[in-house]
Amino acid sequence: MKKMKKLMAIVGAMALMLALCACGGKAASGVTTVEKGKLHVSTNAEFPPYEMVADDGSFEGIDMEVAAAIAKKLGLELVIDDMGFDAALLAAQNGQSDMVMAGVTVNEERQKVMDFSDSYATGVQVVIVKEGSEVNMDNLGDCTIGTQLGTTGYIYASDSVENGGYGEDHVVGYDSGALAVMALVNGQVDAVIIDDKPAQAYVKANAGLTTLEGEWAVEDYAIGMKKGNTALLEAVNKAMAELKADGTFQAIVDKYIKAD
Ligand code: GLN
Repeated sequence: MKKMKKLMAIVGAMALMLALCACGGKAASGVTTVEKGKLHVSTNAEFPPYEMVADDGSFEGIDMEVAAAIAKKLGLELVIDDMGFDAALLAAQNGQSDMVMAGVTVNEERQKVMDFSDSYATGVQVVIVKEGSEVNMDNLGDCTIGTQLGTTGYIYASDSVENGGYGEDHVVGYDSGALAVMALVNGQVDAVIIDDKPAQAYVKANAGLTTLEGEWAVEDYAIGMKKGNTALLEAVNKAMAELKADGTFQAIVDKYIKAD
């Protein structure tokens, strides 16, 4: 009898250990995350004003502050995992991070491999050129265009002409938007296709650049998550709806995007 009790105690302890050691864990809000008590958000922190690294090394930007507000609502500690844009998408897709917030455009291809929250912003892609350049919206197909690898700008521009793109030969993919803009400044490409808000920041930071009149593409930004984590998806949508309803979301946007 005594032996039996001891055995049961051991089994009980093992079950407890298993529960504690299970990779990830449930938070008070009932969501399962990659690491217990934490919300890992992967990003590519060179996409102002959505995500960037501040002078003191901390992360700032709309996505970063919204991520912090969501984490708080879920009772989780926010951890930002900064990496390349492609890697940030993959991390969420493969469940190495809980979600990706990187000004991510929702498109069909991505919807096949990850789940998306409700959209929280409109992303407009624009074309940056050198001031006085001959490049316009209609002759882009004759130009060499710089983009950031893995972005929708790269995907759509490098698509075949039949599909509305300019063909791979006309597009150069760089590891970051900043490098694409540098290539434009140095004359290695004739134009850069990139999301409007970072475009404004790059034009402001580099003399002699301007954006073409007009919108090259209009898209929706959303938070990407691993397929099937419905509890997290629902909790994030609920948190986001609350942040919108109580004005927190707009206050964060206004802080980074001055009303024009
Ligand atoms: N919105 C674009 C995309 O999702 C670019 C995002 C980015 O460069 N961070 O592809």
